[in-house]
Amino acid sequence: MTLVLPYGRQSVDESDIEAVAAVLRGDWLTTGPALAQFEKDIAGVAGTPGAVAVTSGTAALHTAYAAAGVREGDQVITTPLTFFATATCAIWQGAEIVFADVSEDTGNLDPQAVAAAVTDRTKVVAGTDYAGHPIDAPALAKVAHGAGALLLEDAAHSVGGALDGTPVGSLADVTTFSFFPTKNLTTAEGGAVVSHDTDLLARAGEFKAIGYTRDASKWRAEGEQGGWYYEMQDLGLNYRLPDVLAALGSSQLTRLETFKKRRQAITDRYNEGLAGIDALRTPAHREGADPMWHLYPLRILDGRRRELFDHMRAGGIGVQVNYIPVHWQPYFADRGYRKGMCPVAEAYSDQELSLPMFPDLTDADVDRVIELVREFVGA
Ligand SMILES: *Cc1c(COP(=O)(O)O)cnc(C)c1O
Repeated sequence: MTLVLPYGRQSVDESDIEAVAAVLRGDWLTTGPALAQFEKDIAGVAGTPGAVAVTSGTAALHTAYAAAGVREGDQVITTPLTFFATATCAIWQGAEIVFADVSEDTGNLDPQAVAAAVTDRTKVVAGTDYAGHPIDAPALAKVAHGAGALLLEDAAHSVGGALDGTPVGSLADVTTFSFFPTKNLTTAEGGAVVSHDTDLLARAGEFKAIGYTRDASKWRAEGEQGGWYYEMQDLGLNYRLPDVLAALGSSQLTRLETFKKRRQAITDRYNEGLAGIDALRTPAHREGADPMWHLYPLRILDGRRRELFDHMRAGGIGVQVNYIPVHWQPYFADRGYRKGMCPVAEAYSDQELSLPMFPDLTDADVDRVIELVREFVGA
């Protein structure tokens, strides 16, 4: 049957369409002022001195790993409860992936598991703000820095969130965002890298622009160069976000707080409607965390996730599983990663079912989803 409700979708209004059309009528389709404005806007949300916009959340991860200096021989420690790009982008830089387990309540990377996994080869510890709940950045940074590594926060789920009053983007050494349509704001395809380290940001800016070095003070060539001059000192790729899409992003950002409030209200309504049922566990919300809820990860504890999934889909409700543990993917299985390596994440994944979550869901939609779940568990 066709889905009545998807599990996530974008909110695009007439002001967004106008903003995109204005760029199409202008001179700069890419590398222009709308891009510069969007990078400024994202840096504003993240509380950072700058941002580097790119073509996707995957490109943001690749760019961030490159800018962090990840290369052959390095280890990157990450979570299995994420979209697999968090891991695979570090592999493109030549790193070896080490999966560490997650905390039982939030599903976020567990600082103690990371502490047990670090070595003198650890270059980056990469956590994901699962469902929009921020990672325990202070504890993870302490472990990472103690090993001489950087903390990367994959904040594909959590632009606009905060921890103890510090915005996501200012918690880790480097943070990445995704602006895919199901995420908290969209540019159709898009992403960004933010950091307080302006050298790292400069390297990110060069990497996403095919390795161009624009800063004349860094050129190897001696003396005054002609106006045509440029240098390429490191490898890069073309991950430039066009102005057409950047304008959509800036327009969407004006409604980020509205989106966040609606996502919190939907979360509250699900929490209330599904409270006190033995077979179910509603999402954890730690003290001090101000999540930007991207997902509503419900857990079913009686082993009937498959049946609940089928029941919801039969009712036209677009539920989803976030995520199949990354180390279970055939690519990793072929390379010796085994089931059982991260038991907490694996148990979480076995129980998890994401309910529909997007700002345009009505209260009646949410109630219909709650009713179907309650009907299934006999509550
Ligand atoms: C969506 C997502 C990505 C990748 O973002 P794209 O924009 O789809 O490339 C990376 N990490 C996480 C946790 C995501 O949810």
